Amino acid sequence: MPRVYVASDLVDAQLLADVLHGHGIAARILNAHAAGALGELSFIDVRPEVWVSEPRDVARAEPVVAAHDRRGPSAPDRRCASCGEPNPASFASCWQCGGWVEPAESA
Ligand SMILES: [Zn+2]
Repeated sequence: MPRVYVASDLVDAQLLADVLHGHGIAARILNAHAAGALGELSFIDVRPEVWVSEPRDVARAEPVVAAHDRRGPSAPDRRCASCGEPNPASFASCWQCGGWVEPAESA
């Protein structure tokens, strides 16, 4: 089972896994729990990893991963109005509590 991506955090890993699933590619996240759900243990150098279940899917996954990677730094996180959790700009609702995510005021 090949690794295709090392994420900056669990949200990043989950977002990519969801996109891969949308392309019909089975993907798994490893180290999801080691990184800490709230990112407060980020000083520990264990990052979530995205693995493709089928080796034959790697070639199809590569452009998806590349597109995901380009998107990352250019899209600032937005904070949940309910719990204050940062969410990726592509999220309309909070990944943690499901609350409304405020639109970014400055990009
Ligand atoms: Zn929230």
